[in-house]
Amino acid sequence: MAHNVTLIPGDGTGPEICEAALKCIEATGVKIDWDVQQAGADVMAAKGTPLPDQVIESIRKNKVALKGPITTPVGSGFRSVNVALRQSLDLFACVRPCKTYPGVRSRYQNIDLVIVRENTEDLYAGIEFEKGTPDAVRFIDEISKAAKKKIRPDSGLSIKPISVSGTDRIVTCAFEYARKYKRKKVTAVHKANIMKFTDGLFLATAREVAKRYPDIAFEDRIVDNMCMQLVQFPEMYDVLVLPNLYGDIVSDLCAGLIGGLGIAPGANLGLGGTALFEATHGSAPKYKGLNKINPTAVILSGVLMLEHLGEKEASERLEAAVAAVIKEGKDVTYDLKPSKDDPSAVGTKEYAAAVVKRLQKGR
Ligand code: NAD
Repeated sequence: MAHNVTLIPGDGTGPEICEAALKCIEATGVKIDWDVQQAGADVMAAKGTPLPDQVIESIRKNKVALKGPITTPVGSGFRSVNVALRQSLDLFACVRPCKTYPGVRSRYQNIDLVIVRENTEDLYAGIEFEKGTPDAVRFIDEISKAAKKKIRPDSGLSIKPISVSGTDRIVTCAFEYARKYKRKKVTAVHKANIMKFTDGLFLATAREVAKRYPDIAFEDRIVDNMCMQLVQFPEMYDVLVLPNLYGDIVSDLCAGLIGGLGIAPGANLGLGGTALFEATHGSAPKYKGLNKINPTAVILSGVLMLEHLGEKEASERLEAAVAAVIKEGKDVTYDLKPSKDDPSAVGTKEYAAAVVKRLQKGR
């Protein structure tokens, strides 16, 4: 029986990398009925919202979605569709495996890290008050009095909520992942020395959860030190669990360790098996329509999706085909070549065709 999966092509370069990923997923032979749903900048004009209700309804019904990146306007315009999707479906965990594939140009070899990022709280919760608005003026006055500290009246405010329940479930998710995939250590990342009531709560809760998993090592790192350690000694780390904002930043750092954003996949997970798979990278709008960027991150998100759907063998075959194409280094996009203007780089479509060819050869 075919699996029902929602497909959100996204905007910018999203549609072209999703098309490439679909060809590769279909070439595994797994039958999927795709329910294509549009969201993002391109539907804003037609529908008056970048995230029509039917997109959420489709994911609720199918429980599984593959998504291309969606642009978030900076400063003004609509809020992030990505954040709204995660919050409205309560996709509280973002799991991002970061590993090096032989053939990728990177300063590091043999990286095998997993980022588990909290997805619904923190400064990313979208609770903000614009400078000069009545709410901002009122809160500045009240907070200044309560905290006995002056907040400049020309400030904007962003609120950072971090809860015990939200932290418990993300840290539990990290430990369950570690157990399932036979990982040895979970590292909680925070800035508890400065933000005592948010990151301090995150750390204290993580320590409590760790007691339930005596078979897995636990440690913590302050986020700035973590960044330095990851650059110097990435091999010392295994599974990292982080609040939302640090998770966002450290994900890109780890993508850099494994050779760039073009190859970093991700899974947003909720309760009851709801899951939305997407690349770590954004919509890379300057490359839109150029058949240039690397679709690997979405293809590898498809690998994670196939595993989630119970199609383990197909998932492994697809990952092996991607790894083989990258290792050979011939039919790869510009970012995987020795220099960015290497004339032998192929386009998004041609790279996907090489992966499909590998899959067919392996049958
Ligand atoms: P980006 O990840 O889109 O791209 C930054 C740069 O990284 C690109 O210009 C390109 O040089 C490189 N890059 C990214 N993906 C690549 C790929 N697949 N192959 C080769 N090179 C690649 O980051 P940005 O420019 O900061 O963000 C663009 C938009 O995407 C913003 O509006 C941002 O908010 C949004 N965004 C969306 C998501 C999401 O949909 N989940 C995630 C991150 C950013």
